[in-house]
Amino acid sequence: MKKYFVKQNTNVKLSDWDPDDTSEFEGTKKEGLIALQKVNKKLDALQEMLYAEHKHKILIILQAMDTGGKDGTIRSVFDGVNPQGVKVASFKVPTPEELDHDYLWRIHPNVPGKGEIVIFNRSHYEDLLVVRVHKLAPQKVWKQRFQHINEFERMMKDEGTTILKFYLNISLDEQKQRLLDRISTPEKRWKFNPGDLEERKLWKDYMEAYQDVLSKTSKPWAPWYIIPANRNWYRNLVISSILVDTLEKLKMHYPDPVKNISQYAVQLDPKFVDHPEIAEPLVDNKQTTES
Ligand code: AMP
Ligand code: MG
Repeated sequence: MKKYFVKQNTNVKLSDWDPDDTSEFEGTKKEGLIALQKVNKKLDALQEMLYAEHKHKILIILQAMDTGGKDGTIRSVFDGVNPQGVKVASFKVPTPEELDHDYLWRIHPNVPGKGEIVIFNRSHYEDLLVVRVHKLAPQKVWKQRFQHINEFERMMKDEGTTILKFYLNISLDEQKQRLLDRISTPEKRWKFNPGDLEERKLWKDYMEAYQDVLSKTSKPWAPWYIIPANRNWYRNLVISSILVDTLEKLKMHYPDPVKNISQYAVQLDPKFVDHPEIAEPLVDNKQTTES
């Protein structure tokens, strides 16, 4: 999955990144869906350990054009994960109170604490995307934000947060199909927003803004991944796999149990008095979920 990793100081040209790519998985969509179930099982176990260990903080940032699949990614990738310990923070048009503050003011209270995974559905990057494209702030103001954001994320990393950023890369034509699908499918109509058609006209400007973001804010401490997103199953499989790889590298383990835990078995049931080892844990506490 290294293929989708954006190296620091890369000059990203989105036309070089194929939204239809599925080359990292050899198999059909059906096989891909089965593979995803397996990866998701691993993710579930890793998240359990992350929560128990109460040490690492995981921040996942999702950015995409409208219909890019942020909601679908959250639904599929975290399918089966214990909702305790996972949070989603969605960032919409700022409220008047939010606008009265600096742009990171609404972001910071949502970052993960120890043992937590937080998914940002849109993020502070909107302040370099929609804000730039619609000229909601002067260039002089938004230009400084690349550096602010790099430093903000650096600070979080220094304080123990693992940051992963995913740009879900769909094509202009795929967006058209998805918008048409929203119009023609009764259960999807609620998602249709005529404003998306106005944004679509600004596609080129958005791509430019995204290219700048991807080029200037992919850092070793907070890398961007450009995920081919025209095919949902592939997008989900790639993102789940990257998450699992990242969590496995943290070498987590369950916290040590209380001292002489077996004595409590005896307290609960005197039959353990001659055989306290029966109540010994079956698994080694230091065992990680690494495969
Ligand atoms: P959605 O995610 O489709 O529900 O839409 C949320 C909308 O909020 C999008 O159109 C974003 O561009 C917009 N939005 C998010 N953050 C900001 C921001 N900082 N400034 C202006 N608009 C924003
Ligand atoms: Mg929208």
